[in-house]
Amino acid sequence: MSVTVGIPRALLYYYYYPQWKTFFAHLGVKTLVSRETTRGILEKGIKSTVDEACLPIKVAVGHVMDLCDRVDYIFLPRVVSTARREYICPKFLGFPDIVRNNIEHLPPLMDNSIDLYRKGSSLYNLFYSVGKEFTHNPVRIMRAYQASMAALNNHCRDMESGRLPFETCDSNRHNRQDQDVGVRDVTIAVIGHPYNIYDHYISMNMLKRLRDYGANVVTADQLPEHVFRREAEKLPKQLFWTLNQRMVGAAFYYFDRPEVDGIIHVASFGCGPDSMTGELIERFARRESRKPLLNLTIDEHTGEAGMVTRLEAFMDMVRWRRQLDYVAATYY
Ligand code: SF4
Repeated sequence: MSVTVGIPRALLYYYYYPQWKTFFAHLGVKTLVSRETTRGILEKGIKSTVDEACLPIKVAVGHVMDLCDRVDYIFLPRVVSTARREYICPKFLGFPDIVRNNIEHLPPLMDNSIDLYRKGSSLYNLFYSVGKEFTHNPVRIMRAYQASMAALNNHCRDMESGRLPFETCDSNRHNRQDQDVGVRDVTIAVIGHPYNIYDHYISMNMLKRLRDYGANVVTADQLPEHVFRREAEKLPKQLFWTLNQRMVGAAFYYFDRPEVDGIIHVASFGCGPDSMTGELIERFARRESRKPLLNLTIDEHTGEAGMVTRLEAFMDMVRWRRQLDYVAATYY
């Protein structure tokens, strides 16, 4: 009898889905991803979590609920650390517990840990403990793991070549983005957590809107790891949150790039790491750059009209600033 493992379309899905899917497929296990975020999914998540939780956690809870009665297991790794001597936000660590304590009639959760903090730790530990649920053959698990690492590498290369994570995770969405072509005269860097900026509902289709306004969009995920890490070293002290280090390093990099005309930083309301990141980016912008910076904070009450107005005003400012720079370079 075939088994189906559910994967919530939330949190680190945008980075790791190709790897997880490949691993399970090599063990003969089907995967099912929760549906795209809707108001209904968000409402369910809001009702089942505490008010203090940030928006991405509420959305993620909604996605788990969307899977509950359709799968045999839910894959919800307990993410402690994804890089040596760095941590990921503590809400990732506690997420399986939030789910267990707030959702009834859950299928079994696979909440094995990802913890790469210490030297010598490996992602294989996670995959071995998960694989044991489905086969007793260690060679089969190792082969599935190797295939999954190759899939992860391909996914990273795809992102570095300019594709956005949802374009590689979801072929339907890719087709939709491909239709979105037109003249683009400015480049905007959008800096934010993948689960905020790539979720169409949560971001209110921000990336698509920017493209429709004539912008090329670049994000932190299109930079190789060594680039954002090198840039983040401009800080006097290393940030120990991996995702925020990526965001800060990418922002510093894009402020320096002549082809980038403006930066948008997207933060979650109630997110401690994001408020720190926003402050660091803002200080850097004031000190080192003349590029327009827009700070957007989103939560479940953010209205679409307000977001559209701010994006349109920002695009006008970017074009106006570029024209001024052009005039200054021509006549002075
Ligand atoms: S980093 Fe911020 S937005 Fe992400 S899970 Fe933690 S608190 Fe929420």
